[in-house]
Parts: sequence; C-alpha cells; structure tokens
Amino acid sequence: MPIDRRDFFKMSAITGAAVTLPIAACTGKMPRPVTTAVLKPSCQDGIAPGETIVAKLDFIEKCGFVAVEIGGRGLADRIGEYQNALRGRSLQVSAICAGFTGVPISDKEEERKEFVRSIKELLALAGALGAVGVIAVPAFNSQPQLPHKEAREVLLQMLPEIGEHAVKNKAMLLLEPLNRKEAYFLRQVADAASICRDADHPGIACMGDFWHMTWEETSDMGAFISAGKYLRHVHIASRKRRKMPGEDEGDNYVDGMRGLKMIGYQDYISLECGSVGDKNVTMPAAVKLMKEQWEIA
Ligand code: MG
Repeated sequence: MPIDRRDFFKMSAITGAAVTLPIAACTGKMPRPVTTAVLKPSCQDGIAPGETIVAKLDFIEKCGFVAVEIGGRGLADRIGEYQNALRGRSLQVSAICAGFTGVPISDKEEERKEFVRSIKELLALAGALGAVGVIAVPAFNSQPQLPHKEAREVLLQMLPEIGEHAVKNKAMLLLEPLNRKEAYFLRQVADAASICRDADHPGIACMGDFWHMTWEETSDMGAFISAGKYLRHVHIASRKRRKMPGEDEGDNYVDGMRGLKMIGYQDYISLECGSVGDKNVTMPAAVKLMKEQWEIA
C-alpha cells in the first residue's frame, strides 16, 4: 500500500520511535556495537630478532606488542619450550600460523584427509597455548585443487568435524583469504565469512590480512563489517611492499580499523611482514602507528 507524506507523519505521531528507524538509517550512522572494540597488537615469532624463543619474546614485549603469533610448523616438538618461555609474562598467544600438512581442497582425497588429521593436531596445540585458533589457507595457486564449486562443497563437508575438534580444544579454525597472485579460491574476507556462515559452527571462523586486502577489497571497512562476528584475527603489513606498517609511504589502516570498531572487534591485529629498516626502530614504530590510527578511526 503506498503511503503519502501526510499518512507518514500521521503514523509517526502514533507509533513514535518505530518510524524513526528509516530516518536514522538515512543519516548514514552505523549502530553502535554491543562491545567496545579493543586494539591488541601482536607479532609473528619469525619476525622478531633473537636466537632463542626467550630472546624473541623479550623483544616482542619490549616493542609494545601484547601477543605473539606462533608458526605452526613443527610446533608439537617446540610447545614445551614455548610454554616455559611464556611463563610469568603478560604476553598472550594470538594465533598459530599454518604449519599443517595436506591441502583442504586438494583434488586428491588423501591430501584432504591429511589436512584434517594435521589441523586437528595443531588445534589441540593452539588450545594448550590459549590461542584464538589456527590459520589455514584452503589452497595456494601452485597446489593441485578441485574446481571452485566442488572445492567449496568439499570444504564445507569437512568443517563440522574440524569445528567439533576445535571447540573441544577451545580453539578455532581461522580461514584466511589471500590475493590472486597466491590463491584464487579464497580472496575476499566476505567470501571467507560466507563459508563460516554456511558451516554455522562455533569452531569455524575467518580472518582478514590488510596486505591481501590491499589488492582484493574495494573497502577495508566494508570487508570487516561484512565478516562481522565471523572475523577472529587480522594480519597487518605495509601496503606496497609487505614490510613494517609505516615503511611504505601512505600506509593507512584507518578505514579498516573503523570497520573493526563497528563490529566490536576483540581479537588481535598481528604483524606478518618483513622490514627494510632496523627492527629496533621499525617494530616499536609499527605499534605506535597502529595505536595512532586506531585513535583516529
Ligand atoms: Mg596473512
């Protein structure tokens, strides 16, 4: 039924707030998130200088990071060393980065089965370290894989088993979209989130990486908003050369950080990058830049 201007104002008088909703929507203001977002800078262990795990963690802490992201390769053999090195520190473990064997969307069943076996092992280690989860890429361009439609179906079939194991270990699988030079199957944060939505399991989540997003997203803010509750980890690097944030001219993360604030993001933003300059200078500078841009966002 068409409503003319006079009827609309008559309805406004009767129903009050209910009809003010479309007007609020027209102002372009986003609803406030239930929880206030927090900035928690993290750093991959491989980036930090130092010959030992203790030295690396000392350096990461000194730079102002609140968490470390640990490489998953061979972690089963090193977990005790990490647990000892972490004891008595306020430093948390943000995530476990890959390190699995097999390929989730491989065209060979044995490769897919191997992925499920090894990701379960890593999820248990992630839980033991108190990490949010384990980062996984469905397939790199160089890896033989199923056609896209079949790949998505196969991935969704394996996610409930992985999700169950993840929840049991108080961790999550974190699906990471890359850029087209590295992977074609999963390139946008919203696509990863839609897989999480379809999986509909508390053990399955996704992440965004500012580096890959530079090439694939039309809006950092839009990407993070579209992922919403499914977004549980973020990677950051400079935007032209994948070095320390601040090492490339015009490094800007404010738009994305606005999106994170809108969804009430509570998890970590973790460095995954190289460094052109001296890390004694560039790493604390990266934390400073993240804090400044978070304030602006
Ligand atoms: Mg990444």
